[in-house]
Amino acid sequence: SLLAAEKYFALNSFISVQSRPELFGQIQASQERIYADSGESKSSIDGQLIAVKDNICTTDFPTTCASKLLEQYTSPFDATVVRKAKEAGAVIMGKTNMDEFGMGSHSMYSHFGPVMQSAKDGQPARSAGGSSGGSAVAVATGMCYAALGTDTGGSVRLPAAYCGVVGFKPSYGMLSRWGVVAYANSLDTATNGHDDCDPTSITPQTRERIQDRLSRGRRKGQRLVIGYPKEFNLVELDDSVRNAWETTLAHLNSQSHKIVAVSLPHTKHALSAYYVLAPAEASSNLAKYDGVRYGYRDPADRSEDGLLFSPTRANFGAEVRRRIIAGAYSLSSEAIDNYFLKAQSARRIVQRDFSNAFAQPNYLTTDNPEEGRGGEGVDVLIAPCSLSKAPFLEDVKMQKSPLDSYVNDVLTVPASLAGIPAICLPVMHGEEGPVGMQVMAQYGDEETMWEVAKIIE
Ligand code: GLN
Repeated sequence: SLLAAEKYFALNSFISVQSRPELFGQIQASQERIYADSGESKSSIDGQLIAVKDNICTTDFPTTCASKLLEQYTSPFDATVVRKAKEAGAVIMGKTNMDEFGMGSHSMYSHFGPVMQSAKDGQPARSAGGSSGGSAVAVATGMCYAALGTDTGGSVRLPAAYCGVVGFKPSYGMLSRWGVVAYANSLDTATNGHDDCDPTSITPQTRERIQDRLSRGRRKGQRLVIGYPKEFNLVELDDSVRNAWETTLAHLNSQSHKIVAVSLPHTKHALSAYYVLAPAEASSNLAKYDGVRYGYRDPADRSEDGLLFSPTRANFGAEVRRRIIAGAYSLSSEAIDNYFLKAQSARRIVQRDFSNAFAQPNYLTTDNPEEGRGGEGVDVLIAPCSLSKAPFLEDVKMQKSPLDSYVNDVLTVPASLAGIPAICLPVMHGEEGPVGMQVMAQYGDEETMWEVAKIIE
């Protein structure tokens, strides 16, 4: 009946859905198993419906990345995150709609049509955010217990903010990306545990060292120091968002936590650095969709005519093609010094800003506790996830330039460049929908992030 609701509202949040008999069979089997185990479930997601973003590989469904190029593609293996969810007893109900290959902020750039956020009495449909918009809508409408997304520059947090659900981006390297179709490898994050199959997954020894150091440095039993980054207070910020931010800080203050203003002076370079680095990595990752190795091949692709790859690659959507061109350019000998390498150094400066603010150092890059700010530093940072509440889809369609959508990521990409954990929480469910507030913590310090998230929730 939930999937009937999906059709009724035409939310278009799924690309493929498990068949009814199969779904019922799996739910029944897990209920019987839990019952036979005297009510003992294997995990908090045992027997629960979980939806999976369609750029995460599954053997039971195609994995299309919402692209024509992978329309017919089914992976021969499950991604590590999917395998782990299944082992924990989850029932994978289907694959969610998204921006093609994760590139976009409104889940409108899908080969299968845009995702829509259900319209409230007579109001036009709003943007679900992107690129994991289908996953956020599936959770927000109660079609599943939880959904997996991917967050490269905000693709879990922005849809969570627009749809009023919780969206978590882990520290980079904490969750395995094995089986997650790469967008920008140095930024992609999926959820915990080392995986030999993912070379960027942090080793058990390093995890242990980081957690050991962090736990020694935590202010145990003391009030937390919570920072708000001044540079996130942009003039473009909607009043409703600024008010929600103030209310959240006031609430934390009333719980006797200390609130301090913090400066992250290079935040203004984060967005442009991100939009140089992410397309550069994407242009390299997408080179493999040539119609030869796998995926869709255009009938016009004929080497005899000297047209080997271009007709196939013309089937990428306009946004993906823009990114490939921009990325290939910034990596070219003509531009690499001025674009790609400059963006890499901007990224390091953005990272350093965060480390200068936190009480604890980034133990991925240092083992010296003295490199943290200690007493004067903050435990977490709080800032909005988006400039405004979810915009109307019609207004998004009217935007003059595709670059207008890039601006939406200004508040989420700093944490992505720094590789630090961030969680988006819905606050203030007003008439016009919720506002998403994010809690950011030092690298690997998900524990403190969750602690503050629970106070806000
Ligand atoms: N909107 C951003 C982009 O288009 C973020 C995407 C993501 O996190 N996958 O690159």
